[in-house]
Amino acid sequence: MQFGGTLQLHEGTRMWPVLMGNIGELLVDRRRFETFLCSGCGKVEFFMPPDP
Ligand SMILES: [Zn+2]
Repeated sequence: MQFGGTLQLHEGTRMWPVLMGNIGELLVDRRRFETFLCSGCGKVEFFMPPDP
């Protein structure tokens, strides 16, 4: 697994729930999450670090 970066969601990012369903709702709530990629099979995993 390879770190894919930390993504920031902005106010008004309302497409996430549409695109990702319940997970999207969670992402909108957290607004920040980290991504990890597997270069072998293309799997992407999301991690939501605790807010500082
Ligand atoms: Zn893999």
